[in-house]
Amino acid sequence: MSKKILVTGGAGFIGSHTVVELAAAGYEILLIDNFSNSEHWILDRIAKVCGNRIPFKHLDLRDANAISACVSSYRPDSVIHFAALKSVGESVQQPLAYYENNLTGTLNLLQAMSNAGCNQLVFSSSATVYGVPERCPITEDAPLDAVNPYGRTKLMMENVIRDVVTAQPDFQAAILRYFNPAGAHPSGEIGELPLGVPNNLVPFVAQVAAGLRPQVRIFGNDYPTPDGTGVRDYIHVCDVAKAHVAALAALDDSGVRELTVNLGTGRGYSVLEIVHAFQTAAGLPIPYAFVERRPGDVAECYADPTLSHRALSWHAEHGLERICEDAWRWQRGLR
Ligand code: NAD
Ligand code: UDP
Repeated sequence: MSKKILVTGGAGFIGSHTVVELAAAGYEILLIDNFSNSEHWILDRIAKVCGNRIPFKHLDLRDANAISACVSSYRPDSVIHFAALKSVGESVQQPLAYYENNLTGTLNLLQAMSNAGCNQLVFSSSATVYGVPERCPITEDAPLDAVNPYGRTKLMMENVIRDVVTAQPDFQAAILRYFNPAGAHPSGEIGELPLGVPNNLVPFVAQVAAGLRPQVRIFGNDYPTPDGTGVRDYIHVCDVAKAHVAALAALDDSGVRELTVNLGTGRGYSVLEIVHAFQTAAGLPIPYAFVERRPGDVAECYADPTLSHRALSWHAEHGLERICEDAWRWQRGLR
């Protein structure tokens, strides 16, 4: 019998790609989402890519009774928990909404799992928990210091999960700290759906290439980096998705109680390198202008992926070219 996986936030950017990889690996899946940052038609697209419809429940994790009833009746072997609000800027404006959604949602989920005897969790964390990194590449034992409400919710949730691991001898958790997921499924059917003006660089550049925005505003060209623009570790969303399948296997095979790993490539690219790579992928000019640094940004942030390679028997397969090609195919389909 195949393992049953509950995927929270499964209609979102990373969740939808992970559902596709889980289905390909033969897992039975129940996807839940409240569509606060996704659209119903994504479910049709997931079905198209998978070749069959994935069971789905419209559910808000803030509703403790609803998630408890769902976990008790489905009785998943594992939960992959993506559902969260994720905009740093919005979290500064609306901290209570972020703490309520991300923390209450996670507490309700963990309580529901505990009630139902479900003991395996894969959790979406973020490189944001490293705050302003002391050095790059960043290893998992680097100091943790979130510097905005979004980051603090991630750090708090990591700590809550570790406390549950300590308290419940049968509980296993994999905490995956994503660097900069980008790109889209090569089919062009699923990808990132930014609501309003994209905060992230790659979807913004894609919209400029598509003629939806006049130019890329490059936040700062006076950083201590080779070309003066910020350096990040962009990782293809399909590689991130596959890491979740690898994490489930790693928890089962190793029996380890808790695993915290970076999901990155180990290679940093500057904003200018992204603009140029996208220009090549799209075959179109991408106008840009240098503007002031964005408050809170760091000069460079890229992962040491060594531990993820060893612990998950996984590594990122796709490079920047594929990220840009796939993001552009998705963007053209959206027009
Ligand atoms: P996303 O917004 O595309 O997906 C999140 C999904 O969760 C959405 O479909 C949303 O509707 C749903 N959701 C939110 N709150 C919910 C709730 N209370 N109940 C039910 N569903 C809810 O985001 P994503 O980019 O796919 O990110 C997935 C996870 O990865 C998030 O936890 C995010 O914080 C984390 N993460 C993302 C990035 C990134 O750059 N995309 C980087 C680091 C970490
Ligand atoms: N960036 C930019 N213009 C934009 C969006 C982002 O110059 O419109 C830069 C940002 O300053 C950072 C990099 O692109 O150096 C990645 O930013 P993003 O918001 O995608 O990810 P972050 O690493 O900040 O989470």
